[in-house]
Amino acid sequence: MMEVTVISGKGGTGKTTLAAAFASLAQNAVLADCDVDAADLHLILDPLVEERRDFLGLKLAIKDEDKCIDCGRCLDHCRFSAISEDFEIIRDSCEGCAVCQLVCPEDAISMVDRISGEAFISSTRFGPMVHASLMAGEEASGKLVAMVREMARKVAKNSEKDLVLIDGPPGIGCPVIAAISGVSMVLVVTEPTLSGMHDLERVLGVAEHFKIPSAVIVNKADINEDNTNKIRTYCSERDVPFLGRLPYHDSATESMIKGQTLIEHVDNPLAPIIKDMWNKMEEILSE
Ligand code: SF4
Ligand code: SF4
Repeated sequence: MMEVTVISGKGGTGKTTLAAAFASLAQNAVLADCDVDAADLHLILDPLVEERRDFLGLKLAIKDEDKCIDCGRCLDHCRFSAISEDFEIIRDSCEGCAVCQLVCPEDAISMVDRISGEAFISSTRFGPMVHASLMAGEEASGKLVAMVREMARKVAKNSEKDLVLIDGPPGIGCPVIAAISGVSMVLVVTEPTLSGMHDLERVLGVAEHFKIPSAVIVNKADINEDNTNKIRTYCSERDVPFLGRLPYHDSATESMIKGQTLIEHVDNPLAPIIKDMWNKMEEILSE
């Protein structure tokens, strides 16, 4: 079973639009939305939730008022300002490090699981999809990404799918690393701007560090053809496959508004280009 993650150096580069278009081209795939902090693949794929699971994120400290003697040690030792002046635990600030539990002389503090979000297995018109939502203010999105990937792998195995297609988070942080570690390939979507080129270097650097093969797609390539050519040259110098350039076109927005992928959207000049990119990616994966 292959796993492919679509990523970008920053949000708004067309990563999800492309991931959705690829989802409609994949014949036997499970889709996974790992952009858990800003999930929007569901807006295009309209999943029907069939199963939900609680996501247990960071642990939470809770205090037994009857045992507490107001000694203040927990307040002195908490590095996250999660204990108030009157020694109450501030839920939203607690990082679950358990130091307060360790230093409490009265054994008044215990650590409990806290539900920080949900993960879903759904059906879509293109096959099964695993996605998630993180509660407002909750952290540990890398851990939630890992949970989504694990669930997607199980669904793929149980339904004999040969590909897990992942819409990854933007950037190079912990959730991105969780979304790309061990995958067969990352597809990096970038724009031909100076910041886009800089982000591309950083993202390719992360993929290289983890020894993950990557390929590059330039979106809105015609907004700066010079930079697009520079990206192509840069990729060839680093031996990174360049899958193609997509020009700017209104159909990207129009299809999103209609809840369609760019492949489903009729009379759309971007569709054949995306199909060509998909074929190139399949060729690379089969080598
Ligand atoms: S678990 Fe850590 S972060 Fe939470 S209240 Fe205790 S010391 Fe502070
Ligand atoms: S360390 Fe324990 S006993 Fe002391 S104030 Fe905190 S909870 Fe209460």
